[in-house]
Amino acid sequence: MSSHTSGLVFDEHYLDHDTGVQTTVTMREGSFTLAPEPHPSALYITQRIKQFLDGAGLTARMQPIAARAADEDELAGYHTREYIAGIRALAEGNGPLQGPWGAAEIDTPLSRGSYEAALYAAGGAMNAVSAVLHGEVRNAYALLRPPGHHALKNRAMGFCIFGNAIMAAYHARKVYGLERVMIVDWDVHHGNGTQDAFYQDPNVLFVSLHQHNWYPRLSGELEQVGTGAGAGYTVNIPLPAGTGDRGYRAAFEQLVLPIGQQFRPQLIIISAGQDASWLDPLAQMMVSMAGFRYISELMVNLADEICDGRLVLLQEGGYSAAYVPYCTVAAVEPLVGIDLGITDLYAGSSELEQSQTIFTEETQQALVAARTWHKNWWKI
Ligand code: ZN
Repeated sequence: MSSHTSGLVFDEHYLDHDTGVQTTVTMREGSFTLAPEPHPSALYITQRIKQFLDGAGLTARMQPIAARAADEDELAGYHTREYIAGIRALAEGNGPLQGPWGAAEIDTPLSRGSYEAALYAAGGAMNAVSAVLHGEVRNAYALLRPPGHHALKNRAMGFCIFGNAIMAAYHARKVYGLERVMIVDWDVHHGNGTQDAFYQDPNVLFVSLHQHNWYPRLSGELEQVGTGAGAGYTVNIPLPAGTGDRGYRAAFEQLVLPIGQQFRPQLIIISAGQDASWLDPLAQMMVSMAGFRYISELMVNLADEICDGRLVLLQEGGYSAAYVPYCTVAAVEPLVGIDLGITDLYAGSSELEQSQTIFTEETQQALVAARTWHKNWWKI
């Protein structure tokens, strides 16, 4: 088995998490229906990513890593046992949306297969970590569904049920005894669940780049840096709408990379949501396929430099059915060490050119503010 291979986690259980469709328009008086529009976190986006990996020949170049169901004791490292039971009952159709056990917010619909899918997503994240730490693969990409970075200990929200990245980091710490794990969350929304789990923990560095004060509201402000021994080990980098490829590149080069070099993690986990893309309906960050390839390359290089290449990408959000598969494959190619020359769906459009070249005054100011603030804890 080569130590230079890349692993791929995917499991058919993920496709049993069906978020359904939206059809009803409600007015002051009455309602009517339209042709169904899939829920933003639609099943077919996951399917299109998998088909893209298959069609591009990437799946064949990657070593399959089996997923598994996370067990209750593992989940209970963060989630309450009452919450785990409450989610199970809700998915099986015989439980309420909220109760003493916690809640599933209205934006996070569950289907009959959602509980199992969520168990396999958390277990898939842990197996990806195991495969990398055993040296079976150098790095891994896990096409998880449902995503996890918004899930709180007793609350499903933002399309997330269990904290997959949390479970991955706990697994590395508890089972493999790692002392330093770095989580980089480039999903456009703030990873409030991941932040919550490690807010007092100096052993897990959480770095999040996200659209400022977007979702959840007021989550991921600069000032949220952790408490107690964990102060300084939560690094929020809020960015303005329209940041684009150049702004993301600058944020990685000026903040993420030097902070990673100082922390010297033994493993890097990425919460990889491709919803900062310029076509995403749930955000306005203007990143292109080339931009995602570039930031992924930077993280591969960082992992090579400081932790023998040990890097695990976990799928989070991404809501442009057209473009997310392109951006995701562009993020996976550097893991495998190839560039297949896939033509961007929008090559030649003026918007694509804009998203690759904009670097606004507002973005530059946000970067100066982030650097100035985080200098309190890091040499940047
Ligand atoms: Zn997101």
